[in-house]
Amino acid sequence: MKRNAKKPQVKVERPKLLPCPCCGGKPTYMEEYGAKSIRCKECGLRTVSMAFGSFIQTAAEAEAGIAERWNRRAGDEKQAP
Ligand SMILES: [Zn+2]
Repeated sequence: MKRNAKKPQVKVERPKLLPCPCCGGKPTYMEEYGAKSIRCKECGLRTVSMAFGSFIQTAAEAEAGIAERWNRRAGDEKQAP
């Protein structure tokens, strides 16, 4: 089994995730093939994968991006201040 080389871990404040919209389960951050995504532990619902580690964006930026998608709910756009 091939493991990734250990990289220095930087403590990053991850965005808080809302419960799964389908089952109310607990979501978790996933990392595979150089991309981040969020997946529900209960039903497997997941966001798109967002690549990171390149010039495009850092891991923290990728997590912020998918967190925004995960936390978005239908009708959110209508809640203008
Ligand atoms: Zn779920």
